[in-house]
Amino acid sequence: MEQTMHTQASAGFWSDMALWKKILIGMVLGCIVGAVMGPDAEILKPIGTLFINAIKMLIVPLVFCSLIVGVTSMKDTRKMGRIGLKSVALYLGTTAVAISIGLGLGAIVAPGAGVNMAVDAVAPAAKEAPSLIQTLLNMIPKNPVDALAAGNILQIIVFALGLGISLNLVGEKAEPAIQVFESLAEGMYKLTELVMKLAPYGVFGLMAWVAGKYGMDILMPLIKVVGAVYLGALVLVVLVYSMLISTVGRLNPIQYLKGLVNPAAVAFTTTSSSGTLPATIKAAREDLGVSKGISSFVLPLGATINMDGTALYQGVCALFIAQAFGVDLAFSDYLLIIATSTLASVGTAGVPGAGLIMLSLVLTTVGLPMEGLAIVAGIDRILDMARTTVNVCGDMMVSVLVGKSENELDEAVYNKTAAESTEV
Ligand code: ASP
Repeated sequence: MEQTMHTQASAGFWSDMALWKKILIGMVLGCIVGAVMGPDAEILKPIGTLFINAIKMLIVPLVFCSLIVGVTSMKDTRKMGRIGLKSVALYLGTTAVAISIGLGLGAIVAPGAGVNMAVDAVAPAAKEAPSLIQTLLNMIPKNPVDALAAGNILQIIVFALGLGISLNLVGEKAEPAIQVFESLAEGMYKLTELVMKLAPYGVFGLMAWVAGKYGMDILMPLIKVVGAVYLGALVLVVLVYSMLISTVGRLNPIQYLKGLVNPAAVAFTTTSSSGTLPATIKAAREDLGVSKGISSFVLPLGATINMDGTALYQGVCALFIAQAFGVDLAFSDYLLIIATSTLASVGTAGVPGAGLIMLSLVLTTVGLPMEGLAIVAGIDRILDMARTTVNVCGDMMVSVLVGKSENELDEAVYNKTAAESTEV
């Protein structure tokens, strides 16, 4: 009897635990078991393969539905259209910069150099690189059904964006179709949540295999991945965003950085930019003087489609995985990574761990092994804290710039933050 109660209590303890903690435990246990078992730990690998296959199953329908919903949620009157256009341009532009910084840091820090992992299934490394023109032409699917069946992510993104825009243009008659996609997207979010419940076990199986095969040498590279992502986050917020605020917005960047403190703290701890939205809106209005109209349109849009931190992380991780598995990336692969993750960020939900799923998408697009995903999954929470904070800081920056350009920024309020804080 006592034992049953004990078992129930420990089962409750496990099921009540936050997912990221379980994943971390899975990783640590996997490392220990792998270190003890050595190469024999390969028998645990199928648990990881099961998880990876489940993630692969999600990618195509998830991206397709959520991208369409991302686009159809931007219905516009004229002004909305103009503000929307400015915001989207800034959002996508900064996302492309973020991923380039991520790729740059991944190349400089080279966290995966010397890891020497090998996966039998890795595509032959010396792929012939298609020309830039060919890559661009290939983005348009001749047959969208073919693209969906083959899982050609870039083509799927292009088709989904086109269909979403067209549904918006059709208006009322398109409502039923939009609702279908909205409810399918909800279903896919739920399925993602369910699949993610497998993550602790999948990570355990894969880490056991990795640690068994490669020993503990994998830990140092992972620490380097964390260092590169945090350094990139700092560069983006303190240099790039502040520079945009001062050059494009002609505003004092120190004020902007001060205004970030509250939402950044919430983002860092919750790892959800959607969850942080109330704090972001409050800070944009009350501390930075962005008007109600602008903040309530630009910020929710940003929480849905703007993921600079996530893009940065994808750059670092994609390079780490390529280096660790010894895959040579051609110049066109870099462009492909930039294009995929910039466009795909439109369809990433601002919830914890969403970036990991998006990473699987980038890996698929450039033919990198999915096993790499499970290796970074163990430290995903630590990376998620940095990338969510950057995501939110990026949204705030765009709201200030758009507010300023539309004459909807109260500069007295914007400049007050400093005066107030010097008084204190
Ligand atoms: N957690 C991030 C966010 O909410 C998304 C991600 O996982 O990258 O912004």
